This record gives sequence, C-alpha cells and structure tokens, in this order.
Amino acid sequence: MNFIWRPFTQMQKVKEFPEVVRAKDSILYLKNGKKIIDAISSWWLITHGHCQKDIVKAIQESSQELDQILFANFTHSKAEQLVKELSEFLPSQLNKFFFSDNGSTAVESGLKMAVQSRIQKGEPERNKFLSFKNSYHGDTVGAMSVSARGIFNRPYKSFLFPIYSCSQGSLSFDSEEKFYRDFERQLEKHHKKLCAVIIEPLIQGAGGMIIWPVATLKRICRLAKSRGLYLIFDEVMTGFGRTGSLFAFEQIGITPDILCLSKGLTGGILPLALTISTDSIYKNFLSPKKEKALLHGHSFTGNPLSCSAALANLKVLKKNKSKLLKKWKQIESINCDRLKNLKPSVPIKDKRAKGLVAVVQKKGDYSSDFSYEAYQKALKQGVFIRPLGGVIYILPPYCISKQELHKVWDVIESLI
Ligand SMILES: *Cc1c(COP(=O)(O)O)cnc(C)c1O
Repeated sequence: MNFIWRPFTQMQKVKEFPEVVRAKDSILYLKNGKKIIDAISSWWLITHGHCQKDIVKAIQESSQELDQILFANFTHSKAEQLVKELSEFLPSQLNKFFFSDNGSTAVESGLKMAVQSRIQKGEPERNKFLSFKNSYHGDTVGAMSVSARGIFNRPYKSFLFPIYSCSQGSLSFDSEEKFYRDFERQLEKHHKKLCAVIIEPLIQGAGGMIIWPVATLKRICRLAKSRGLYLIFDEVMTGFGRTGSLFAFEQIGITPDILCLSKGLTGGILPLALTISTDSIYKNFLSPKKEKALLHGHSFTGNPLSCSAALANLKVLKKNKSKLLKKWKQIESINCDRLKNLKPSVPIKDKRAKGLVAVVQKKGDYSSDFSYEAYQKALKQGVFIRPLGGVIYILPPYCISKQELHKVWDVIESLI
C-alpha cells in the first residue's frame, strides 16, 4: 500500500493525518471544516503568519521571471539584495554569506567551514567540537554529531564523530557557577584540540525549550573566544524574533564567528538557509589551489524564489519593526501572566518563558505517550501543539490575536 512515511512519527501507531486545505495568519483550515490555531508556527517556521500577503506576492512575481540558476556560475538580484538587506541587521564582521536550503545544511556547512579553516590556517590539530547537553543542531550526520546523544540519534551512534560535551541542562541559579567552572575546565584541558563551540543561543529548542541564563552564556562565549575557539551560533530556531529580539546574539552582545540561519528566514514559507562567517575564516579558503575552496554545495543553493521570499520577509520586518516589538512584548506578557496563574492538577516540573516561547514542563521524556495524546486532545479543541516529550510549549506566529493566544492557554490548562 502506498503511504507517506512521516518525519519523527511511529507509523505503526499513527494512522491518520488531518488534511489541511488552507492556512491564513495563525489558522490552519482542515478539510473537515475545523479551524485550528497553529500555536507552534508549524514547527517554528512561520514568522508573521501563514500566507503573509507580501511574501506570497513576492514569490508569485519572482516565479514569473526566474526559477532556478546554478550559484556556482551565476548570480541573481534577489540573492544580492537579500544579503545587502540582511547585513543591516548584522554586525559588520559577519559578511560572508553561504547559501543552502535547511537548518541541518546550514549547520553542516558551518562545521565544515570551521574544520577546513583550521587546517588551512595551519592548525589541523584543532579539529574537535564542543557542544552542550540537550543541544539539537539537525539531522544530517555532522549536525547529529554535535547534538546531544539520545533517542533521535541512537541507532547511528557509531557513525557520529566524537565531541566534547558540556553539561548545560536546565541550569538553576545556584548551579550556574559550577557549570561555568566545568566549561572552564574543559577549555583548559582541551582548547589546543578544539576547533569551535556550537551553541543554540538563549534557547535550546528541540532539547526541551531550555532557556540559558544570559550572564552565564555571555561568560562562556567570552571565555571560548579568548581561548581562540570559533563561536558558532545556531540561530536556526532563535532567529527572526523568537527570543524577543531579531536575533538572540543581540541580547548576548557577542558576535559569533559563524551564524546559522534558516527556519524563519523566508518567513517560514520556503526552504532557505544561510551560514554567515567572518573575513578571518573566509580568507583561509583563498588560494590558487582548487582544493582549498569550500567544496560544498546543494542543488537548490540560493534558489531565487526562496530568496525573494526572504527578501520580502525582511521588508515586512523592517516596515513593521516598532509594531512587531510591541506585539512580541504583548505575547510575552500574556504568556508570563498565564504561566503565573496556572493551576495544574498534575505535578509540574517547571514553567518558563522567553520571548515568544513559553513552556510548561511535566514529568516524562520523549518516549512517553503524553505528547501524542496531548496533541490529539488539543486538536479536538482547535489548537495545534506538539509537546517535546513532557515539555508543552508554544511559539506562535506574530499575528496571533490576544483571544487566540488565550484560547491556546485555556486548552493547555485543560491538558494539565
Ligand atoms: C530545526 C533546527 C535545525 C535543523 O533544521 P532543519 O531545517 O530541520 O534541518 C538545526 N538547528 C536548530 C537549532 C533547529 O531548531
């Protein structure tokens, strides 16, 4: 029997997938006539809202002119403009833009850049990565290697390259100093072998929406830099507003050497990714020898339609900047209010919020059935969530109305 094999789904258990016929703003319209609030932005992608009109129009217009070209030989105006517009939001050191088409490839390209840069600047022994407990950087082999080991990658364990792992879990304040000392010790011991440290700044996403203490994050970034490690920020999830600023690095006040962007880059409408690096990395690839180039690329690198969507996304962000900041604050304050007033009837491990993300954490892990059952119960009540194990979280598109957001919280309350 023909059947679509779904991502992250135990197919023996799940047989039915409701058909979505239309999506607009924060609503998914199902074939059975039901309206569903998309409380997680369709997996952290949709920024402004579904089918945002300016982005849709840009894609339509662009598709009349130019479908696809080979970036290794040609350029096009949408990519050139996108890089120019995006630069206005970035520190000037981040000025070399490498395109690909999803978050994993953005990370994978960043890791390869870092390793090859070390080799070509005469530090081949600096070839190990440092990453953190609960981190998630994607599903390709390199990205899996720098991610936390666990249920997502257990079968491939023997294929993953070894890393040094640091113990950021959910830090309570009294454990911050201990964590910092831990990190310091790892650096003292290994820094001569360390190429880079890779971080999901401010919020670790798939690992359970874990919020970093900003001061500690700042300290570890500074220490890593002072030890000559490349700092790789994986802002695939945190980019484009999720943490309450356009990028998480703004709140940390530190410029990474490599920045990975994807998910919200096109407003979440089309696949596109960027790995952005500094001149000092880029110049290690310049040589008369072809083999010193970054010999990496993907078929859809810099696709013109995706670039035009990203360009439109940036224009919407720029045009509505003050309105958006207000909206983000409003969402955050409703989230905090509702979290504060929560009266759960089951034991709760933690409640937390940062930017547009808010979390109620029950006991239980990824293998438990809670997530799927909660999804089904919420869907019946008109809300789409997909808890990470026992971690119920929301991360709504920016257009969500107050009433819709309160409805989402009412439904979450009914689950706990
Ligand atoms: C989703 C995600 C990725 C992987 O992106 P894909 O487009 O799913 O490959 C990488 N890093 C982070 C932080 C993510 O949230």
